[in-house]
Amino acid sequence: MEQTEGIVLRSFDVRETSKLAVFYTRDFGVLKGLAKGARKKQKYFGSSLELFSYDYISFYKSRNGEVHLIGKCEQKNFYAGIRENILKSTFAAYWMEIVQELIRDKDEKLFDFLLSSLAYLEKEPVLSPLLLPFFELNLLKLAGYGPVLNYCVSCKKESDTYKFSPILGGIICPDCYHKDYRSIDILPNTITLMNLLTKTQMDKLSRISATPKLLGQVKGVIHYYLFHSIGKRPKMLRFIDETIKEKIFAEVSSSTVP
Ligand SMILES: [Zn+2]
Repeated sequence: MEQTEGIVLRSFDVRETSKLAVFYTRDFGVLKGLAKGARKKQKYFGSSLELFSYDYISFYKSRNGEVHLIGKCEQKNFYAGIRENILKSTFAAYWMEIVQELIRDKDEKLFDFLLSSLAYLEKEPVLSPLLLPFFELNLLKLAGYGPVLNYCVSCKKESDTYKFSPILGGIICPDCYHKDYRSIDILPNTITLMNLLTKTQMDKLSRISATPKLLGQVKGVIHYYLFHSIGKRPKMLRFIDETIKEKIFAEVSSSTVP
């Protein structure tokens, strides 16, 4: 029997009573496990197979398949503070989706980044608008897709103007524009803010401010790069846009009540 810590990236019902869970684990990277009878044996699994639950997992390694048999899951953190807030739970679900799309292998630094991100999301009363771009950019970096933002990624020269090339993985100078016709405009302020986001800590994010225009540009560039790296637009992003719109609408509505 093997043991490790893991975070549930995804789980779904299989057959009559079982569940299949995909974890990101500290010692094995992405791990798929079958929890036989999980929907009946509440005392063994409880809520430990819910999305983004942080667990201590005991499992039997499969000899020939990629799905292992989970013996027991002890929940270390359910993140109730995230679950009771619709916006926070949508963010966490989105994070689990993009982690699953970008990461396979074991990486303790990434595992700790996920844990500290969930802890921050749970305790922070007011979320910075830069939280999602921060997470996306640093996840890309940890996954080995960190964009080059200090000089042209192609010829290494510095320039006053650049475009952003998702294919080459960073900014490119005018001499190199022809190397990627799908590169997009990027302004110096956007490059500066993206650089800052890769160097700061999550709990210092509230000290950084950005105009709505700059925030929009940073989000646009990061998403363009993220979609290119994953090969599609993540499903949860639509829910995030809808949740934010509804939240703003609810705040506006409640503030107009005398
Ligand atoms: Zn160049």
